Amino acid sequence: MPQVKNIKKIKPVKKEKDQVIKVMAPPKSNEPLQLVRGFKDILPSDKNYWSFLYGKFSDLALAHGFDMIETPIVENANLFIRAVGKQTDIVDKEMFVFEDRGGERVALRPEGTAGVARAYISHGMLAEPQPVKLWYYGPMFRYERPQSGRLREFHQVGFEVMGDINPIIDAQLMIFALGFFHDLGLGEATLQVNSIGCPKCREKFKEALVEYYRASRPKLCEDCKKRLLKNPLRILDCKNESCASLKSGAPQIVDWLDEECKNHFTRVLEYLDSANVGYVLNSYLVRGLDYYTRTVFEIWPGEEDRGQNTLCGGGRFDGLLELLGGRAAPAIGMAVGVERVITQLREKGVQMPTDRKPDVFVAALGEPAKKRCLQLFEELRRAGIMVSENFSRDGLKHQLESSNKIGARYTIILGQKEVSDGTIIIRDMDSGVQEVVDYSKITSELRKKLNKSYS
Ligand code: ATP
Ligand code: MG
Repeated sequence: MPQVKNIKKIKPVKKEKDQVIKVMAPPKSNEPLQLVRGFKDILPSDKNYWSFLYGKFSDLALAHGFDMIETPIVENANLFIRAVGKQTDIVDKEMFVFEDRGGERVALRPEGTAGVARAYISHGMLAEPQPVKLWYYGPMFRYERPQSGRLREFHQVGFEVMGDINPIIDAQLMIFALGFFHDLGLGEATLQVNSIGCPKCREKFKEALVEYYRASRPKLCEDCKKRLLKNPLRILDCKNESCASLKSGAPQIVDWLDEECKNHFTRVLEYLDSANVGYVLNSYLVRGLDYYTRTVFEIWPGEEDRGQNTLCGGGRFDGLLELLGGRAAPAIGMAVGVERVITQLREKGVQMPTDRKPDVFVAALGEPAKKRCLQLFEELRRAGIMVSENFSRDGLKHQLESSNKIGARYTIILGQKEVSDGTIIIRDMDSGVQEVVDYSKITSELRKKLNKSYS
């Protein structure tokens, strides 16, 4: 055996701190575990709404030239702290933040724009022809007080137009949103519009706002007392009754806009007018996120803001890309709350298109028939026939009942006799008439019948 010199001792791998996995023991009792507060299942009975809306969103996005983007649900918490703003409710009180096993501070995304802006920068989309139009769809997470219209996990569909400052884009996006609600049968939705200017004009406005609210400080809620010092604009967004009632006498930001911001806003409104779009000039609309500049808007289901029924919110965010470390580029976007749209569709009794019913139900009687039907089912499906089955049940009665329940036009029946004869029965479910056909011809026979009944 050759002599091995200089054998290095392999050091045992040290268990790093982050490798220590603590798993909490589950509770001992057999009680069923409950959903986490503020989270909801989306059940098959709701499915029609979700698939209908998803179809609408993607058709609309395609028609308006938006490309789909999917960003991760988990991002570095700093992305939202920087983009949305430290003093906002979303970051200050509502964000799900935790340390992952590697010690990184991450957050479940509370909104979609920050992730899209990060992706626009990190994938160099500024080098592409502008504007870059992106849309997204997915769950968002905010630790809010759960109530009707307010969940801790909810879904948004969002549309962002990056790299264009032209006011026609602002008007287009609002017309797009209104058109969508109109098409859905939610025609009474109202567009609320305002401009919150750029950081320069906002500074002066903030001073006037602080002066106004300081005089009524005792009437403000505890949060707004803090906002007076840190983020006075947000007092206008407070849902507390006493704070909201003070709003009507507050200074209006439109009076503080500089020439450029005023000009931008006037042009947006002119475009809306020329498109015959109705809107409400709402000078107290400020929106809850720091990144907005100039145009801001919301769509309400009716004339009033009932606190938690706003369907859609959006605005310009001309400073965001630079704030996130990208090259300065203007942008505008909006996000629609999917659960709130579904609530409105239900309240207004808007009918969802029903699912297409299966054309053919395959009934198999006995083991040899069942074995054959597994393959037959695949053959029919591949031939473009919509098929259904209930192979785990025995007996014709049960299977015909299932066929009736799902509304199939035909049931094909394969029993012991048919297997040995090389035949199969086609039963018309409306008339009950049955005919025996050659097993090898079943696909073409069904096609003939279905073509006839659909034409
Ligand atoms: P609100 O004033 O209702 O709290 P927001 O200004 O916080 O809304 P945005 O951040 O603009 O909401 O989000 C866009 C849309 O997402 C809202 O208009 C709403 O339809 C929906 N949304 C926001 N928060 C929730 C939530 N907690 N539960 C359900 N939907 C929500
Ligand atoms: Mg909110």
